[in-house]
Amino acid sequence: MQFVPIKQLLITVMLMTASFCASAESPKVLASIKPLQLIAQAVTEGVTHTEVLLPPGSSPHSHSLKPSDARKLRSADVIFWVGPAMETFLPKMLASTKGVKAVSMMDIHGIRLLSSEEDEHHIHEHGEHHDHGDYDPHIWLSTDNARVIAREMARVLVSVDKVNQSRYQSNLDRFLKSMDQTDSRNGQKVEQSGKQPFFVFHNAYGYLQEQYGLEVAGYFTLNPEQQPGARHLVGLKGQLGKAGVTCIFREPQFQPAYIKRLTEGLSVKVGVLDPLAENIQSGPESYAQFINQLVDNITSCIQGAVKKNDKLS
Ligand SMILES: [Zn+2]
Repeated sequence: MQFVPIKQLLITVMLMTASFCASAESPKVLASIKPLQLIAQAVTEGVTHTEVLLPPGSSPHSHSLKPSDARKLRSADVIFWVGPAMETFLPKMLASTKGVKAVSMMDIHGIRLLSSEEDEHHIHEHGEHHDHGDYDPHIWLSTDNARVIAREMARVLVSVDKVNQSRYQSNLDRFLKSMDQTDSRNGQKVEQSGKQPFFVFHNAYGYLQEQYGLEVAGYFTLNPEQQPGARHLVGLKGQLGKAGVTCIFREPQFQPAYIKRLTEGLSVKVGVLDPLAENIQSGPESYAQFINQLVDNITSCIQGAVKKNDKLS
């Protein structure tokens, strides 16, 4: 056995540390909101940890800038965000931050955008249109869009970090495969649950509805920060009264008193949908878990409602 002198051992350790540091120089990736962080994490798994800008409990509709946000942004190499219709606070901050590659997901090629105009199911009040813009910005609530977003993230990451190209590519392939499984699982869930229109707190679920053929009958508000108009609430009360046993879904970020007032005396079941994935542990599989949880909450509630309505009729 050969004896390694201490000095040589030290040099070896120092060289190893140096080379570790060099390979650890992967890009610093930031996502504006948690659902985008979950998609990014699937793509950056094994290369770098994706940070998130918005702290839990804050809504992108109303977040106002903090000095810590500016620091996070300045230290990032890449930021993935939705677009000015969602993170209204970001464009100004991006304009004054140099050296960060910012990619707005509403602008990327192939992304599916729904008009923010309501279809005939919805009651329309002009006064409620404001910072949501012409297109519905809740683009992350569809697996088809998640696929497009993940592809774009991988493309951008390869452009700034060629060294890890094959890892980004294999992560992307795995993510796309998991989206296929997610879709077939959730398609079955929705089919089994039976058709039953349901009501949501804010107008955020158009993409999810379209992806899985769900039936959102109405929403309480366009902008979760604002009290809905009186006319909208009167119309909604009428819809709820006619709906039989139905489900309404509130969101953990908001506890408005008008939901209780509107549903008093009606046979409604109240569930929770979290469009921001706050209770989801972040990891490479988390985006699928997030979508599965939304679908499970919807289908388990409407399954109960369908049963009750069958008994009543
Ligand atoms: Zn929203």
